[in-house]
Amino acid sequence: MNSFRADLHCHTTCSDGSLTPTQIVQLAGSIGLQGLSITDHDSIYAYPEAMVEAASLGISLLPGIEFSAMHGPMSVHILAYAFSLDNPIIKQFCERHHLRRQQRCLKILDLLAQKQVPLMVDEQLAAALKNGHAVGRPHVAAAMVRQGLVNSIETAFRQFLGEGCPCYVSVTPISVEETLAVIHSAKGLAVLAHPHLISNEALLKALLEMPFDGIETFYARFPESRHKRWIEIATKKGWLMTGGSDFHGEMKPQIQLGCSWVSQETFHALTTHLQGAS
Ligand code: AMP
Ligand code: ZN
Ligand code: FE
Ligand code: FE
Repeated sequence: MNSFRADLHCHTTCSDGSLTPTQIVQLAGSIGLQGLSITDHDSIYAYPEAMVEAASLGISLLPGIEFSAMHGPMSVHILAYAFSLDNPIIKQFCERHHLRRQQRCLKILDLLAQKQVPLMVDEQLAAALKNGHAVGRPHVAAAMVRQGLVNSIETAFRQFLGEGCPCYVSVTPISVEETLAVIHSAKGLAVLAHPHLISNEALLKALLEMPFDGIETFYARFPESRHKRWIEIATKKGWLMTGGSDFHGEMKPQIQLGCSWVSQETFHALTTHLQGAS
């Protein structure tokens, strides 16, 4: 029998992943994962559907989300786990994120039109703008490719959507401190996402002083040698060591679901917290 593995970081069509909640749970089952947390950007919309499939396949599903936050001008991702999906504080915070993302997307469409790039809200883009979903620049870029306005997502970012480009729109910032306060008031656990990707040491230092409960030690396809630093920090601070693939399906084809994971012990610690929180 396979030993227990749980992937605690993946995205569905409710944010910028390419698999539906049902499909991602089925994929988890087919590769032998026994635990999963779906961590869409700023959305828990995947859960009602995912829970049905997880129950039928016997997969343990842990509530999770990946919040977008800012520290000054710098973007920071914060994972939250083990909160109740019915928690009104989390639901309101998701709604706030949804509205700011939706408004920003509409501003981007205006700017594109001003630049003579007539992007239409096609079926897929309309789905990404729907209630509960977290629409982002990747959805706009993909729509531009579909409609033949650019030849690749990279080009869409380079010419139009990337920071400093003519159609770049920033989102109204929500700070790391506020995000941590929201997670904690909802009795969730806050985890610093993919510290491996933070190249600014001053930012990292500031974040490590903040009241996180864990750090995403095992991430995507980073080799074991790159885990050491985060293991040492987590050990020193008494923080949880979480892990996950950050699977997005076709949006990031090089990353497979389950390529990073946590053991039963960590998964159990998280589910035990949830039982206390709900
Ligand atoms: P948003 O949250 O809407 O600002 O979109 C951010 C996401 O856009 C990131 O998580 C990346 O997945 C994607 N992204 C950012 N820059 C690029 C780029 N140059 N090419 C492709 N995708 C990008
Ligand atoms: Zn993403
Ligand atoms: Fe992230
Ligand atoms: Fe992610």
